[in-house]
Amino acid sequence: MKIICPDCKGNGFTRIPYAQAGEEVHAQCEKCASSGEIDLKILADQIKVLTFRNEKLHHHNEKMELDIIELRKDNKRLAAQFDESLKQFRNSGDM
Ligand SMILES: [Zn+2]
Repeated sequence: MKIICPDCKGNGFTRIPYAQAGEEVHAQCEKCASSGEIDLKILADQIKVLTFRNEKLHHHNEKMELDIIELRKDNKRLAAQFDESLKQFRNSGDM
């Protein structure tokens, strides 16, 4: 079963905004390969792929978030350690 391409509305091409191109320009529609229609099975397959990728990226983001939290804790700990060392150094009269 086929549907009208949502990107080009069935035209097979899209108008590039004048502000972007500086003149009247049309681009062939990549989504439907300029046919103006899309096979629903292809869309269903694309949705599966995008859902899978979305899930992977979501997990990756969670991991990055936890890493950032750990790095911030480390940074605070090191800054406090540095301040303490500097204070001791000053108190020893060498500075
Ligand atoms: Zn199209």
